[in-house]
Amino acid sequence: MKQLSQTANCIEPSLTRKLFNMAKEYDNVIDFTLGDPDIPTPIGIKLAGCKAIMDSKTRYSQNAGLLELRNVISEYNKVKEGIKYIPESEILISVGAMEGLYLALLAMINKDDEVIIPAPYYVNYKQMVMMCGGKPVIVDDENQKLSCPIEAIEAAITTKTKAIILNTPSNPTGKVLSDDFISRIADIAKAKDLYVITDEVYKCLLYDNSERPRSIAAKEGMKDRTIFINSLSKEFCMTGWRLGYVCANSDIIAAMTKLQENIAACAPLPSQYAAIEALRLDYDYSADMAEVFKKRRDALVEEFSKTNKVKCIAPRATFYAMVDISQTGMKSEEFAYSLLKAMQVAVVPGKTYGRFCDDFIRIAFTLNEEKIREGIQRICKFVNT
Ligand code: PMP
Repeated sequence: MKQLSQTANCIEPSLTRKLFNMAKEYDNVIDFTLGDPDIPTPIGIKLAGCKAIMDSKTRYSQNAGLLELRNVISEYNKVKEGIKYIPESEILISVGAMEGLYLALLAMINKDDEVIIPAPYYVNYKQMVMMCGGKPVIVDDENQKLSCPIEAIEAAITTKTKAIILNTPSNPTGKVLSDDFISRIADIAKAKDLYVITDEVYKCLLYDNSERPRSIAAKEGMKDRTIFINSLSKEFCMTGWRLGYVCANSDIIAAMTKLQENIAACAPLPSQYAAIEALRLDYDYSADMAEVFKKRRDALVEEFSKTNKVKCIAPRATFYAMVDISQTGMKSEEFAYSLLKAMQVAVVPGKTYGRFCDDFIRIAFTLNEEKIREGIQRICKFVNT
């Protein structure tokens, strides 16, 4: 048999999926692995999707997505982000944020181009850069562990650097990049002529009543060099609808649209109609979401406070928490496997997110409060015996 491609061979299934699959083998398991909210998609959005199906809106759309939806996204971003994107040329509808990220990288990466990924990082970034023939440059810091200093990012830039990927709020840490940090990245990108891909799929899940953080795309001189990625998955509990979008300059969107024709053709049409309903500006479907997850986060932190063997860092945003397990004497992978076996609780080993995250596990609190409390009680029992 001929060999598989180098691309296929260099891609590893993630530890997140591994633990998720292993969890399926246990009864009565509490699964904290995937960031897939248990809350149903709001009924109005579901009805819009069903109506589209019943009206036989079940065919292809334009490669860039329905113009009607791009108009809605343009208005939504004008109000929420303060940035005006032209619907006809600066917006593309993608199959989730994931396909948007992939198309963006495919549109800009040549073989061996470098893409800077600050750690801790969402694992798919690294793999996607590799799938495009580029070189992921993971930037991290042993002293900070859960954040990446700007100086380290600056020092990692070479003549081959094409782009920096930002993810704020962050999966896995739940941290939000400060405005000062974002301004400094913008200055670096302009000085070194780099693109910035900004993945902001969690920006609606903020827990401290602070203002919605401003995107780097809104900084002076940054709109044209920023690829703004968003999705309906988290904001409207629509992970399975596979609907995301990308806003960028017209050259990048045109390139991504050509690539889209050859990859997915378009995002699912009924989901595009559902998205038009979700993004209505006169009704806020996601208003209660942050409230629900804040309660869950508080329950999680409260349960962890009952032990001093592990330390949970309360996230400012997202539905992820990193838990410091350094005092247990175990590294993250051993901890995750032993915990699953002993207590039937599945978590993601921190080493998934960077080499200095091996003293952490990640918990996705996308389960109801009762299950969260039960799961954390089991973890506390595990670390105390
Ligand atoms: N970016 C980040 C940081 C994520 O955590 C996820 C989903 N886990 C995605 C992108 C992909 O989201 P989507 O469902 O829209 O493809």
